[in-house]
Amino acid sequence: MATRLAVALVLASLICLQGADARKAMLILGVMAAHAFGEGSGVGVSFSGPRGWAQGLLVTIAIGLHNIPEGMAVATIMVARGTPPRTALFWTLASALPQGLVAVPAYMFVETFSELLPIALGFAAGCMIWIVFAELIPDALETAEHSHVATAATLSAAA
Ligand SMILES: [Zn+2]
Repeated sequence: MATRLAVALVLASLICLQGADARKAMLILGVMAAHAFGEGSGVGVSFSGPRGWAQGLLVTIAIGLHNIPEGMAVATIMVARGTPPRTALFWTLASALPQGLVAVPAYMFVETFSELLPIALGFAAGCMIWIVFAELIPDALETAEHSHVATAATLSAAA
């Protein structure tokens, strides 16, 4: 039942997006979901670190807080391309779902995930860098002054 509902929601959401906008939105969502795997691994492994629960809680709060601007970025891109806000909310939450799904097995199989963690975190960072250079900066250059985009990118990189 839940699976059918999820499939129906996905199909309904895809109908709302068409053509190049749909491909671009799905690409961004796919990359964001892939990078969430690395973050979920980090959350699960952090609970098994030398400082235990306190360290895990700190990492979970940090990852949770960083999800706010990240989710706003995903939702903003989708709504700007004509996605209804509720559909954008659904996809934004769906793109972050791997975090929670991976955190539990990462905690349970911490030795395996600890060895994979550097690769997973590097992959997560690479996903974000790719999104910025392949999608966000080109989109910004279409509508904003090039010098403003360059200044914002430089300040963001320095921060
Ligand atoms: Zn992230």
